[in-house]
Amino acid sequence: METMIASSLLDHLQCSQCGQYHDAFRRQTVSDCCQMPLLAQYQLDQGFSKHQLSSREKSLWRYADVLPVVDPMNQVSLGEGFTPILPLPRLASTYSLQRLTLKDEGLNPTGSFKARGMSVAISKAKENGEKACIVPTAGNAGVAMAAYCARAGLEAIVVMPRHTPDAFKEECLVYGATLILVDGLINDCAAKVRELNSHDDYFDVSTLKEPYRLEGKKTMGYEIAEQLNWTLPDVILYPTGGGTGLIGIWKAFQEMRSLGWIAPDQPLPKLVAVQAEQCCPIVKTYYGEQTNSKHYVGQPTLANGLAVPRPIGEPLILDTLRASQGTAIAISEADMLEGVRELGRHEGLFVAPEGGALWAAARQLLHQGWLRPEQHILLLNTGSGQKYMENLR
Ligand SMILES: *Cc1c(COP(=O)(O)O)cnc(C)c1O
Ligand SMILES: [Zn+2]
Repeated sequence: METMIASSLLDHLQCSQCGQYHDAFRRQTVSDCCQMPLLAQYQLDQGFSKHQLSSREKSLWRYADVLPVVDPMNQVSLGEGFTPILPLPRLASTYSLQRLTLKDEGLNPTGSFKARGMSVAISKAKENGEKACIVPTAGNAGVAMAAYCARAGLEAIVVMPRHTPDAFKEECLVYGATLILVDGLINDCAAKVRELNSHDDYFDVSTLKEPYRLEGKKTMGYEIAEQLNWTLPDVILYPTGGGTGLIGIWKAFQEMRSLGWIAPDQPLPKLVAVQAEQCCPIVKTYYGEQTNSKHYVGQPTLANGLAVPRPIGEPLILDTLRASQGTAIAISEADMLEGVRELGRHEGLFVAPEGGALWAAARQLLHQGWLRPEQHILLLNTGSGQKYMENLR
């Protein structure tokens, strides 16, 4: 008999570098073997049918079968996910594009898609009996972690660059988090986290250093397919910092193929990593200007979420770009702001600079002929502009 009640099909964790098996039913961080991200694997042959979805709640927890939380009582939710995919008809007609859409992650709790990752990661931390969590952040991840820890009754320590706009800091404090400011970028915050956590007092929720923020973010891929009635866009533009969303969306497409939700011969979208010129390690490596980003030095950018100079997920990001036949592109500060303003003026959307960069990237890729006007182009706007006021002046 087909079961209608969601229950996690989580099976094990796999090292993203060498494939080694890791136990999914205890606290895990990076892999023991390679110190690299662990990827959650599910029993996808256990009959999770897409027809079960119609009766489920309109949040990312509708995909609970392919999420790691075993006991639904441990789900820590503020209503994250199931954000709309909006057509951008006025922008499309101005630029003679056939189908331009935007998935608006700015409508998530705490104003960004970081809510997805943190909802799932903090739920799992709660399930594992953690009491306190710590995170280095460029802004949005810290706000989201603080909110979900408050909701779960866990202690939260957020380590953020001093130059981050005040709204991010104030919101963390409202959620009762301890806020620590550091001169530098997120990698400097990560060093501070290592120092503060030298006795392992806190659970470190750094991007891809625990396995489940990725699982929360992958639900964007499930939603894109479901909301477009199991068709897919030709291209997805994604503002890439740590790369979790990009890797997660691709993971979702692979899982949906295994589940039989999308046909083996259905083309998958090309994924485009959009970065800031000020900090574009992935673009540099993608174009062979460096072998990897181990020694890359980034500068602050108005798109705070893109200021990740040495992402641990770099190999996975590059694999995803190549496997999807995508590309990588860097956008100037002026162009991303113009992108924000154009989306505002034409469509009534107030997106984060990260989202503005997507439209700037689309225009450049159209100009280069890499994108074609007849393609369905989806901009994955990761956050609301609300917290970035200082950056817009
Ligand atoms: C964190 C963040 C990003 C980068 O996300 P990754 O999935 O880590 O690449 C992009 N946009 C915003 C608004 C963010 O907060
Ligand atoms: Zn390994």
